[in-house]
Amino acid sequence: PRPYLGNPKYTIEVLQKYHFVFQKRFGQNFLIDTHVLERIIEAAQITKDDFVIEIGPGIGTMTQYLAEAAREVAAVEIDRSLIPILQDTLQDWDNVTVINEDILKVDVCKLAQEKNGGRPVKVVANLPYYITTPIIMGLFENQVPLDSITIMVQKEVADRMQVGPGTKDYGALSLAVQYYARPQIVTNVPPNCFMPRPKVGSAVIRLTRFLEPPVKVDDEKLMFAIIRASFNQRRKTLVNGLKNASELSFTKEQIESALTSAGLPLNIRGEALTLEQFAQLSNEFSRI
Ligand code: SAM
Repeated sequence: PRPYLGNPKYTIEVLQKYHFVFQKRFGQNFLIDTHVLERIIEAAQITKDDFVIEIGPGIGTMTQYLAEAAREVAAVEIDRSLIPILQDTLQDWDNVTVINEDILKVDVCKLAQEKNGGRPVKVVANLPYYITTPIIMGLFENQVPLDSITIMVQKEVADRMQVGPGTKDYGALSLAVQYYARPQIVTNVPPNCFMPRPKVGSAVIRLTRFLEPPVKVDDEKLMFAIIRASFNQRRKTLVNGLKNASELSFTKEQIESALTSAGLPLNIRGEALTLEQFAQLSNEFSRI
């Protein structure tokens, strides 16, 4: 079988046949551009060995491409009214399982265990933009066996994932993503590639999971608490940010001593630190 829904004519046909009503609260913007769909599949480097998890299949547009390329696909969709549509649009493929669930409530580790023997899975999605960060952080922090995540996100969020210190987009998301994976922007995607058109520009980004983190951290939880505290009060110095953080309970003296041991000036701002420096600083704190 051949994927056909990337053609807007068929998407409109399916939507009309089922009298589908778009739900704003679910971030529903369906892809209607075959060129973009092909780029996503190519960037995800899917083979017939792969088990792929798709988040939010919508009417099954990208799912058709994934089913063609992969060994098996599990597609997790929250909107109950899309389930009968997916049964129709995916009927020609016998390697797809549709799961009617909220992705944030799915035990993805268990799914990877059952469907892929715990081997690394590929996640591919045109994400609902209202929950981009929780979805990505959930996959990384819950230690899901991952090969890569290839996703469509808001352009500005894609930028945030790949920048370093010295730009306004740099923040906790940049550091979290870069601790777990190598980010590469694949392509920018304008609003007219979707139905309905989103108000923001989009981009496809591929996050390739590291086998080993790029920096050595004694206590990951502590490092991420420090990172959050540093960016919570962007305009303050790092010393003040850490002192005021509800998650942390170090004294001013302890903070100043840790900064000095890490070779950092006492008036530095959190947003100036690289991942290596946050790792080093957090290792100083875990010795206290
Ligand atoms: N993959 C389709 C496409 O590219 O045309 C649809 C993408 S649309 C941007 C996002 C999809 O995610 C919608 O189908 C929406 O219903 C679904 N969705 C939203 N929140 C979800 C959640 N918490 N769990 C699973 N799916 C969700």
